[in-house]
Amino acid sequence: MNAPVRVRFAPSPTGYLHIGGARTALLNWLWARHTGGKFVLRIEDTDRERSTDEAVAAILDGMRWLGLDWDEGPGVGGPFGPYFQMQRLDLYREYAERLVRGGKAFACYCTKEELDLQREQARAEKRQFIYPGTCRDLPYDPSRRHVIRFRLPKLEEVTFTDLVKGAITRPASTLQDEVIVRADGVPLYNFGAVVDDVTMEINLVARGDDHVNNTAIQVLLYEALGYPVPAFAHLPMILGADKTRLSKRHGATSVTAYRDMGFLPEAVVNYLVRLGWSHGDQEIFTGSELVEHFGFDHVGATAGVFNPEKMVWVNQTWMKSLPPAELAARSLPYYRAAGLEVEGDPRLPEVVRAFQERAKTLVDLVTQSRCFFAPVEMDPKAREKFLGPDAAPILLGIRDGISATATLDAGVLEKLFHDVAAARSLGLGKVAQPVRVALTGGTASPGIYDVVLLLGREESLQRIDAALRLCAG
Ligand code: GLU
Repeated sequence: MNAPVRVRFAPSPTGYLHIGGARTALLNWLWARHTGGKFVLRIEDTDRERSTDEAVAAILDGMRWLGLDWDEGPGVGGPFGPYFQMQRLDLYREYAERLVRGGKAFACYCTKEELDLQREQARAEKRQFIYPGTCRDLPYDPSRRHVIRFRLPKLEEVTFTDLVKGAITRPASTLQDEVIVRADGVPLYNFGAVVDDVTMEINLVARGDDHVNNTAIQVLLYEALGYPVPAFAHLPMILGADKTRLSKRHGATSVTAYRDMGFLPEAVVNYLVRLGWSHGDQEIFTGSELVEHFGFDHVGATAGVFNPEKMVWVNQTWMKSLPPAELAARSLPYYRAAGLEVEGDPRLPEVVRAFQERAKTLVDLVTQSRCFFAPVEMDPKAREKFLGPDAAPILLGIRDGISATATLDAGVLEKLFHDVAAARSLGLGKVAQPVRVALTGGTASPGIYDVVLLLGREESLQRIDAALRLCAG
């Protein structure tokens, strides 16, 4: 029987959770959930200059928002924190010493100045600098300031199989005796990642294909340490519409920016997984469908192009599918952010239902439905076009009709609007539009009867009166 799947996501905390990173995390998480395996989160914080606590917090925030929970970490009983490389320095040191003792790594005492000089010389001679092996055969003297370098074995090339890209071969001539531990005891990325993947028993490494060039040396490190080489899946980068790597130039790239724009996490997950993975021609997937169907065999080898419009479409489709009460609950923070306290307002679920088909995002829902919870903000263009002197008799007719009716319902309103239209030989739209502008401040809204019913009799009358004053003015 195969060993249980163990996968990981290993972000460097140098910024927020990027859309591309989130997709990597997501595919790993899905594979763990699909197979009943484990998903490990490891923060690769060895770049002290660029790593920040804020970035760690932002990454965890993004992961939680997407629902990507991790299964392990230091600590007993849980909830588990992620692993942090800077808390594991002893481990890297121990593994590095082991390599040194076995002759597979060595201490290098070259100073920065010496190496810089050699690098300079290589540049002048227009050749690539490769460490010339100066300290390869010197005895180990831990009392001297040193880095630890991997001793590149004698070989022609390194080959590994990638689940997404197939067989990949790298000539050994492009590799060198890489530094694996710095003088201050902090490991370099390739070594830290391999020691962690070994000790965390990771058996499938799925990451962005910007790391495909690191994999050959990592394969050699596994072999030097005497551990089996895991499977690899290098995921194509996400591109922008112009086919260059997705970056801020293409719009928001942080996962939480999409939260702030009013996307549902289900929709972001749905969209990101579909970007480069397919299951027939199905577009909309619930989380459990993704878990059920996901596999690396259907991850494409070519980069997906990020298409913001399609993401909006996926979001809108998701919004339509949620029960209105659920959508109302999800929209509360967005109303709050817009300065509207609507929690407990009995009209909220009905208002949300009226806008469910029309709103693209939760922010859009709030913007469109704002006038039900706040005074009318009159759009000057709509006012000019629809609230001129001609509108006054129409508004008066509707006003009087509403005021004369004790109980409003859709049937009563339909008759009233038709009567007012017929009396003035106007089409229904010519009656509805000034009323819509009067009630909502703009020209787009759900059906006019719904608007009246949602506002209620008193509020509708007051708004029509206010509009009548504008018509007169
Ligand atoms: N810390 C690396 C990064 O954020 C991860 C590399 C890996 O997954 O091995 O790009």
